[in-house]
Amino acid sequence: MAAIVEGPTPKYECLLFDLDDTLYPLSAGINLACRKNIQDYMRDHLQIEESQIAETCLKLYREYGSTMAGLKALGYEFDNDEFHANVHGRLPYDNLRPDPVLRTLLLSIPRRKIIFTNSDKVHAEEVLGRLGLQDCFEGVICFETLNPPPAMPEDPMALSGEPSSDVDDLYGSDGRPKSPILCKPTIESMEAAIRIANVNPNKTIFFNDSIRDIASGKAAGFYTVIVGRSTLVPGADHALESIHNIKEALPRYGKSTTGQNLMLFLLLLR
Ligand SMILES: [Mg+2]
Repeated sequence: MAAIVEGPTPKYECLLFDLDDTLYPLSAGINLACRKNIQDYMRDHLQIEESQIAETCLKLYREYGSTMAGLKALGYEFDNDEFHANVHGRLPYDNLRPDPVLRTLLLSIPRRKIIFTNSDKVHAEEVLGRLGLQDCFEGVICFETLNPPPAMPEDPMALSGEPSSDVDDLYGSDGRPKSPILCKPTIESMEAAIRIANVNPNKTIFFNDSIRDIASGKAAGFYTVIVGRSTLVPGADHALESIHNIKEALPRYGKSTTGQNLMLFLLLLR
């Protein structure tokens, strides 16, 4: 009887997934509806001039990673939970159907799997629940994870922090106002995710539909997979038209040529 031969340590230990438009297709219409809801919020709650909304929304999204982060940088004050409730509360979640194919694929990959999204916790749970994937992941790094509520003054940890009243802290090196919101695609958000998930980026595969997130993820050291495209983008190591093709993106995943050859040799000796 041939002995079982263990292969070398697998090259990748963790899979880090974006959520929206990565685990389900852009054609589901969530992205489009989300943008409309953000623009409605800008008009109805922040009283931004209607003619400026579409351009401002896009500009802030491009410059700050999310329109919300940009609005905060410009000094708009609003409650984060109220914003998320307005923007995500009316999304067409019925468009998202259970995806048993993806579920089976994910469960068949014996590696750590973690979600890393700019979205809030309620939205992430809703999407994962609709897709039937809620138990496929070890955890979710979301808006609240990256932007926890400020510590209470009586918290001794709060007193140990460096004061940040210096006016220079309010502006980035490019002269633009900094946002108090931490979100992708900043390198700081990537570093935060690496720290929170406690992963080695060199042993982590990062799946994302956003070109800029891929570039930033590459800079952070991840093996990067752009999802929703058949061609590579800057910083991408692999391109997948659909997350359903995930196994194509797992380089030599769990395979041990040496182990397989040795097993074959031992079988031939029987
Ligand atoms: Mg996305």
